[in-house]
Amino acid sequence: MELKEREELAELLFPNIKHDRDYYEKMYPERNLKDGAMVTRFGPSPTGFVHMGSLFGSFCDFVFAKQSGGVFFLRIEDTDQKRSIENGVEGIFKDLDAFDIKPNESSIVGGKYGPYIQSERTEIYQTYVKDLIRQGFAYPCFMSEEEINEIRQEQELSKIKIGIYGHYAVDRDLSLNEIKENLDKGLEYVIRLKSPGNAKNEIEVMDCIKGKMKFPEHDMDTVLLKKDGTPTYHLAHVIDDHLMHTTHVIRGDEWVASLPLHVQLFQILGFKMPHYAHTAPITKKDEGGIRKLSKRKDPEAKVSYYDEVGIPIEAVKLYLATILNSNFEEWYLNNQDKKIEDFTFSFDKMAIGGTLFDLDKLGNISKTYFSRKSGEEVFKETLEYAKKFDKDYARILEENKEDMEKFLNIEKDSDRPRKDISKYSDVKEEFSYAIDELFYKENYSKYDGNKKFDVSLIRSYVQDVLDLEVSNEKWFDDIKEFALKNGYASSPKEYKQNPNNFKGHVGDICEALRVMVTGRTKSPDLFSIVKILGKNRVLERINRYENFIEK
Ligand code: GLU
Repeated sequence: MELKEREELAELLFPNIKHDRDYYEKMYPERNLKDGAMVTRFGPSPTGFVHMGSLFGSFCDFVFAKQSGGVFFLRIEDTDQKRSIENGVEGIFKDLDAFDIKPNESSIVGGKYGPYIQSERTEIYQTYVKDLIRQGFAYPCFMSEEEINEIRQEQELSKIKIGIYGHYAVDRDLSLNEIKENLDKGLEYVIRLKSPGNAKNEIEVMDCIKGKMKFPEHDMDTVLLKKDGTPTYHLAHVIDDHLMHTTHVIRGDEWVASLPLHVQLFQILGFKMPHYAHTAPITKKDEGGIRKLSKRKDPEAKVSYYDEVGIPIEAVKLYLATILNSNFEEWYLNNQDKKIEDFTFSFDKMAIGGTLFDLDKLGNISKTYFSRKSGEEVFKETLEYAKKFDKDYARILEENKEDMEKFLNIEKDSDRPRKDISKYSDVKEEFSYAIDELFYKENYSKYDGNKKFDVSLIRSYVQDVLDLEVSNEKWFDDIKEFALKNGYASSPKEYKQNPNNFKGHVGDICEALRVMVTGRTKSPDLFSIVKILGKNRVLERINRYENFIEK
């Protein structure tokens, strides 16, 4: 087709498109950013919630833009209406907001490069496609589903590349008259790329994470505009990231296969290519193997899971930073007073294969997070959690605030604070002995040992010897003395040397007291617990223990 005819065709197909490319090029000028500033974007489809893979992706976008003094924007990619759900956008903003991932530009906060919702950009896409028609890089294709299916079957049988290319692209050379006839008949059509590529040629793309990648040149007449005039992902991606001046496209590596097409689109549209960074999928260990984290099978794939089970957002973020860059963990270990923002992330420390998501590891990070918080902070956050997910426990916490904060503060000033909590919901179980109401409900039913202890011995210790005012050293000296007086060795060593001379050793007395007071064989510092409870409550627990074993 001659230029004149192509111009006529462009008008015929897009009579309502009045602007030209220049109009948009002027409307969205270069961003005025300092050298090295990255412009990144997160492009979720409005499916209602963010899953771990997209949270990880948006976290990358966010940190790279932030640390380089750039811009991170959020673009809703709703061109596939089948995947969109009503109010799906709100869920995405809510999930990201919970993780403090705040876009500089979006359909909510606005920005100069909007609209930030693809379904509101149809006119822009059509303007560029109109121009491609004019240039001979696109054409209307009237092939029916049946025809395309037949071609596919033929290609499958002959084991050749599937798609519309070469002689399969039957409509690529229709004359203007033939097109007019089809339009007059009211035939439906899509707009396809008239690919100038040749699969015998090779192209090279430098990926920020995967390094140099080689592909055969794209030679398919891929669909650019669907029958309803809306764009495919490919066209929308290229036009949007050009006009929004994205410098780094960070996206899942399921898109690597489409890269040759995207390179070709950037070329024929005359746009500068952004850098690409294709991230490895999030994987998990399962039945000995490693597989992709699945939205369907794995509850932890849904971002709201962390809120529900009570893993602090900050711990999840630390974990995301850990899987984002292989050197983050060590850095954080050596810089415990620093924040995630103080670390400089880089693409070359990102996983190429798969990014293993390990809930146990996240649990450990979370334990460290809790261990560094004061009792008051842990109390406050746990109460907030309980108000949402365990109202009865929230009431109990509020009624026992003073005690509970003291319990949560036990051993906090030591060099290695306890790591016994990994989520807010653990507090209730882990500190059940701290609150009479909960402790008395269960008493010793969860006792994890098999010994029966001498109640009168411990009762006489508490009544006659225990002094809550003394130092830890004095407390232990007293209990050792009490042990000796009652036929117990004052140390395990002493006991081992002459086991026949003793009933046991001081540790056995402490164990007995611990079990009576907490219902378990392991607990934080026993003297601290006893001091918070006070003598009367300790004696009450000894009575309860007595009743329990007598039953
Ligand atoms: N909307 C695309 C998706 O849901 C985004 C891919 C991209 O970031 O370019 O996967």
